[in-house]
Amino acid sequence: MALDRNTAPNDLNAFWMPFTSNRQFKKNPRMFVGAKDMHYTTADGRQVLDGTAGLWCCNAGHCRPLITEAISRQAAEMDYAPAFQMGHPSAFELANRLVDIAPAGMEHVFYCNSGSEAVDTALKIAIAYHRVRGEGTRTRLIGRERGYHGVGFGGISVGGIVNNRKYFGALLNGVDHLPHTHLPAQNAFVKGQPEHGAYLAEELERIVALHGPETIAAVIVEPMAGSTGVLMPPKGYLEKLREISSKHGILLIFDEVITGFGRLGAPFASQFFNVTPDMITCAKGLTNGVIPMGAVLTTAGVHDAFMQGPEQAIELFHGYTYSGNPIASAAGIATLQTYKQERLFERAAELAPYWEEAIHSLAGKPHVIDIRNMGLIGAVELQPIPGEPTKRAFNAFLKAYEKGILIRTTGDIIAMSPPLIISKPEIDTLIGTLGEVLDSLD
Ligand code: PMP
Repeated sequence: MALDRNTAPNDLNAFWMPFTSNRQFKKNPRMFVGAKDMHYTTADGRQVLDGTAGLWCCNAGHCRPLITEAISRQAAEMDYAPAFQMGHPSAFELANRLVDIAPAGMEHVFYCNSGSEAVDTALKIAIAYHRVRGEGTRTRLIGRERGYHGVGFGGISVGGIVNNRKYFGALLNGVDHLPHTHLPAQNAFVKGQPEHGAYLAEELERIVALHGPETIAAVIVEPMAGSTGVLMPPKGYLEKLREISSKHGILLIFDEVITGFGRLGAPFASQFFNVTPDMITCAKGLTNGVIPMGAVLTTAGVHDAFMQGPEQAIELFHGYTYSGNPIASAAGIATLQTYKQERLFERAAELAPYWEEAIHSLAGKPHVIDIRNMGLIGAVELQPIPGEPTKRAFNAFLKAYEKGILIRTTGDIIAMSPPLIISKPEIDTLIGTLGEVLDSLD
């Protein structure tokens, strides 16, 4: 069955949509058929302002010529090369460019195809790292409540979003969770980093004491927790995690799948917060969301631990058919060029104060119980309807779409993360329209 480009298709049954209320959607589909810069075009010809950079990924906006041209050029020149025991230039060039913008000390890049794969790759590298160094007892992993690390079994094991875990069985053994840092009583409506909550990092000491440091491989956190509703790290919190993990020989992994590539106004959140982990996971903005690609960045210390034994030996038994795929690599190079040429990370930093004032102007709107922001990301938390959690925010999402803005919701929290090319008038439109939506909510 051919789907008409301009009208809503009449058979939506076969596609089981991810993280979607399929029955609701299929009764009343929302279909995008085009995108350019800050806007999507709907099947019925309306323009929708992208307040979420797709799914936190199209940081340079949509259909950027440098990126689309690089993809078609690479597709025509060489579509695919084996990822194992063979190389091709663009994967190496992209790795070098990534290292150039990464925090000092991050010197190597391992490719995969998504954020979820980046997380599972980093967790596997962490466990294997200790083993190749003769510390094979270090297998425990520590995540955090409300953490989102994708949907692989490793990622949902260290993750802490209840619905993403509870249907899927026993998950990985030997995982502990730090407490989350959402402290609304102390931190509600704070702009930027909250003052209260650094002490929650001390919980890592308690977990270490409970099991013994010689059993623990790694701690993984999002430096700023995105998918759970945009939670900023309290001042001093990440520094404390770094201090405790270093003290005990535990690897610290920052999951920067959302915060990577300028979201906070620096290439990575690690630089923004000035805390350097041992590994960084990234994806999304790596290719501007255009082609699936993820990566793990590691220090020389982590990488070099594997570079031993006979030279022909494979050092790490891990990888994907599409690791460093030529077309994804070409997209990645062109994306980093676009960010650089247009100074988009600096632009995000320059726009951040304007964004902060704009989003906090929604304080006092009906049902709003908290507003949080940092860089070009923000969240508006709504009072849930008793007995019907998520309904109010979902209704806001539907109304926003009707009014021509794309927002995202998680639980009763509205999250926004526009492309870094957004202009001040577009910020006004986004926030002004969201204000009207909030005024109209039951
Ligand atoms: N980690 C984090 C912090 C994320 O926000 C996401 C996706 N939102 C993922 C991992 C998973 O990425 P993907 O959907 O590409 O697998």
